[in-house]
Amino acid sequence: MRRILVLLLGLGAVGLPAQSLKDFAAQMGAQLFWEPYRGQLLISGPQHRLAVDLTTGLALGDEQTNFELPSLVPATGVLGPEDFGRLVAWWKDQPTPVVVPPDSRPEQKTDAVPSAEPRVQVIVLDAGHGGTDPGSTGRHVIDGKTVVLKEKDLTLAVVLELQKLLVQAYPGRTIVLTRKNDSYPTLEQRVQIADSQKLSEKESILFLSVHFNASLSKKAKGIELWYVPQNYEREVIAGGDIPESMFPVLNTLVDSEYKKESRELAVQLAKGLAKELGDSNEQRGLKENPWFVVRMARMPAVLAELGFITNLEEATLMTDPEYLKKLAHGLYTGLVSFIQAYEEHS
Ligand SMILES: [Zn+2]
Repeated sequence: MRRILVLLLGLGAVGLPAQSLKDFAAQMGAQLFWEPYRGQLLISGPQHRLAVDLTTGLALGDEQTNFELPSLVPATGVLGPEDFGRLVAWWKDQPTPVVVPPDSRPEQKTDAVPSAEPRVQVIVLDAGHGGTDPGSTGRHVIDGKTVVLKEKDLTLAVVLELQKLLVQAYPGRTIVLTRKNDSYPTLEQRVQIADSQKLSEKESILFLSVHFNASLSKKAKGIELWYVPQNYEREVIAGGDIPESMFPVLNTLVDSEYKKESRELAVQLAKGLAKELGDSNEQRGLKENPWFVVRMARMPAVLAELGFITNLEEATLMTDPEYLKKLAHGLYTGLVSFIQAYEEHS
């Protein structure tokens, strides 16, 4: 494998197509982050970190190594083969940095390579519907009594329980609710609540919208976890300080990162729910669709449909507050798994 790579790099000098910083990160098994506050692209791997200023073409590695990347084309993130080769050689040849215990670390910190670890600092929980919008309703005769279930009540019950679990588990983090009672924020307001959360540079945010499903077919049942299709292109970064020429490539980078993370979040939520509910198929219910809230939130986002309110069997379960707590616990388990993996591998 290594030999092939060396050969390719050798060929690069005689006209192999140029490669991008994204390719570089992928080849090094590193993650790519766009750092809007610094205008830098961060390439972060288990051994090294590299911050590339896309305006000046200046790269700063850990160990204070500087590179100039004269071939860097800002609008595309593409590098010439020589610069690409130098980066690869540096990344591979550097000895793994010795980890200095925190208390002996010098006060002075390099500005270009942040030392703080990536962290999911904010979790936005969105209880679907509310107020004048009841969402779906299910009318059933259960144990001889007519029961009317409203989606808006079920989503709120699950979200309030989930909030409780998350606040206990993560006292230092912010758990935001788009509604705490029977009110109706519009979809735009819900997304706005999520997008307006303030984050510092290595902090990130997740969005989870909770719903219950309905169908004309009373047989339809099961949990569904929706995320944005991987090929759905969106605008996920704000224009702001970013030069216009760089916007498309950065947007694509960030968007593909969010989409990958949204899918991973959906996978973990499905696993958490399957574990809680005793479903042997952990992948059941994973679905792609650009629903408004998952499409519009500029962050990893999942919309969970926690069963069909129109199905007698599932509706019967939903009348039990303990079952709603189980659903919340399943989502909680999934969120915790996602956060752990995200923070370990970032
Ligand atoms: Zn709904």
